[in-house]
Amino acid sequence: TQPAQPGIESDMNPRPVQPEYYTGSGKLQGKTALITGGDSGIGRAVALAYAKEGADIAINYLPEEQSDADETTTLIEHEGQRCLQLPGDVSDESVCISLINECVTQLGGLNILVNNAAIQFPTADIEQISAEQWEKTFQTNIHSVFYMSKAAIPHLTKGDAIINTTSVNPYTGNPELMDYTATKGAIVAFTRSLAQNVAERKIRVNMVAPGPVWTPLIPSTFDEDTVSQFGTNTPLGRPGQPADHAGAYVLLASDDGAYITGQCIHVNGGMIMSS
Ligand code: NAD
Repeated sequence: TQPAQPGIESDMNPRPVQPEYYTGSGKLQGKTALITGGDSGIGRAVALAYAKEGADIAINYLPEEQSDADETTTLIEHEGQRCLQLPGDVSDESVCISLINECVTQLGGLNILVNNAAIQFPTADIEQISAEQWEKTFQTNIHSVFYMSKAAIPHLTKGDAIINTTSVNPYTGNPELMDYTATKGAIVAFTRSLAQNVAERKIRVNMVAPGPVWTPLIPSTFDEDTVSQFGTNTPLGRPGQPADHAGAYVLLASDDGAYITGQCIHVNGGMIMSS
């Protein structure tokens, strides 16, 4: 089970992802968004914020994992928006093509793609990273971003957006997440390149780089010291919450961000102050 989150009342939900302070104002009215990893953590907070802004939502997630998809769907429908559940493994290109086609067929289109699903396996030394782990991390975290973007772009038109979730790690380095950090660096490079490639079609491609956020991605094997220190090294002195990211993803998806492309918004309590 997930340890209690530092700085958070112990009786709080260990996945406090509902952006309760986020109030929508119709910025995504009439739009459709597909969010990979949309049932959990940051992806779930983004899905709820987009629903509050008036978008219909498709959430993708790994079917075999314990999933909060039903609860997320209920919350999205509570906002008066449709929610399509699209379980499937995004490390498989044929699955990605099906996810995009299902979204377009069942929700009537696609305007916003959020490539957010990822995995990580903390390892102390390079000798402990097997070739299999390295490949799985790349397949899940970056190959999927290519597969999903490639399948989505024919459906996107002027004003539509792709938002990729990277991390603070490629900007700082992380000796205990070398494979994961390399995939997140690849996302930075791919985002900048794709943004230039599709700019002529007025499709925008950006990214968000979270710092430490207490979500199910963080191993429950952390010892007490690591848990109590998590996120306290940020200038703001606390880990991020999934809901802290909602505003950045809404900005990059909406017309408020119409002149922003190829950029990264760092949501990390001030951990790094330049890119
Ligand atoms: P999370 O564990 O809550 O969410 C991960 C999601 O990815 C889950 O919905 C899971 O089902 C999905 N997923 C994993 N493998 C998949 C696959 N093969 N196919 C489809 N879906 C798959 O974690 P989170 O912290 O909310 O992570 C969201 C994003 O934020 C990730 O890209 C992560 O790298 C990034 N991030 C997280 C932190 C952090 O501290 N939590 C920091 C920086 C960046």
